[in-house]
Amino acid sequence: MSDYERLRQLDSKHMIHTFLPLETRDRTIFVKGKGCNLWDVAGREYLDMTGGLWLAQIGHGRPEMAEAAAKQMSTLEYATAFWEFSNDKAIALAAKLATLSPTGLDVVYFTSGGSESNDAAIKTARLFHAHRGEPERTWILSRNDAYHGLAYGGGTATGFDGLKAGVGPGIGHVHHLTPPKPFQTWRYNGQSTTDFCIAELEATIARIGSKNIAAMIGEPVMGVGGMVIPPDDYWPRVAQVLRKNGILLILDEVVTAFGRIGSWFGADKYNVKPDILVTAKGISSGYIPLGAVLMTREIADAVCEGHGFPVGYTYSGHPVACAIALENLRILEEERLVERANVMGQYFSDGLQRIKDLPSVGEIRHAGLGIAIELVADKKTGQPLPDNVIPDVIKRESGVIVRMANENVLVMSPPLVITESEADRAIEAVSSVLERVR
Ligand code: PLP
Repeated sequence: MSDYERLRQLDSKHMIHTFLPLETRDRTIFVKGKGCNLWDVAGREYLDMTGGLWLAQIGHGRPEMAEAAAKQMSTLEYATAFWEFSNDKAIALAAKLATLSPTGLDVVYFTSGGSESNDAAIKTARLFHAHRGEPERTWILSRNDAYHGLAYGGGTATGFDGLKAGVGPGIGHVHHLTPPKPFQTWRYNGQSTTDFCIAELEATIARIGSKNIAAMIGEPVMGVGGMVIPPDDYWPRVAQVLRKNGILLILDEVVTAFGRIGSWFGADKYNVKPDILVTAKGISSGYIPLGAVLMTREIADAVCEGHGFPVGYTYSGHPVACAIALENLRILEEERLVERANVMGQYFSDGLQRIKDLPSVGEIRHAGLGIAIELVADKKTGQPLPDNVIPDVIKRESGVIVRMANENVLVMSPPLVITESEADRAIEAVSSVLERVR
């Protein structure tokens, strides 16, 4: 029996995979990664155009990261961040994040990933109002097609009904607004995307009552929703409405932070100042699970009042995770990878122009190295053309891994270290398959 078959059988028998029926036969079983490449157990090489799950900013298999982990593990492998206990690496990372993040977000709470961070952020928003004498502010505004993870807090804010079916009522008091998808003009009743979204936001606040709403949560650019890039005036205008009504803005930057969209944070790119900012993924380039919730001093003061912050995870401020994140940030800065995301994003955009007139290609868009090809059934109306088979065909034919987001948007989010020749290979692989789609 081949190694692949042996592992495949064990995998089918013992492992549950998100979004995969148990009886599915095929597996792609990776055993090694380097730069933008991955290798499976049979020795086949792949070009990882998804950067894992939108996170492998500095590329796979970097020895500096292994060294940072080994050094920290042999010095201090664990220390809690409950009560008065702390550790030097968590403190250094918190201070570093405060210098990189948008002004005013100086206080950090560490988690182990995006879902935990969103949970903590939603609790933080509700606690903030409760501690300031407005406990009735519990509603959370989100958007359809938003992805905020699949735990109960962020999971309730996630805007895909199919992901919530059968799991009960969630955290309650969550309302989903229309997302800003300028390309899908049919959504906005002839108004500009931003005008429509702002009018809907204001009407929703009036209906629920501003005094009942804690926060609005949103990704600066929606990743899972299909690389949804808002018009430039969307976030500043949303923030203005929220501020007027005493509603906090939580930016979920799990995908957008640390260079993915060509800026350190989406908040910088869209000129908006959140009250709470959620990160994970690119903070460690996926070398270790880590997330961080950044907030203003005013919010931290309010939620830590009395008995202190009532949110806590065993692995908060884990010294090994923080040491790895510090090394990751050092590499991002030293190799100027945030700037590189813009250069290479443009390179992709130029290279993909050859398929822009295909009948199935509605729009090619990118923010940094988040690249999207929106597939349409009708170029004039922009109605979606769902096709989940395309990534499989591309993987099988050329070993290039891409993903379909929201069923009709082919997305690529490669490591920020991608070279021009690797980009050429991906462009060729994707284009040659799309040229055959009718
Ligand atoms: N928020 C956003 C915007 C995400 O894209 C994701 C994951 O893809 C999450 C939250 C959830 O993060 P995690 O899977 O680390 O819990």
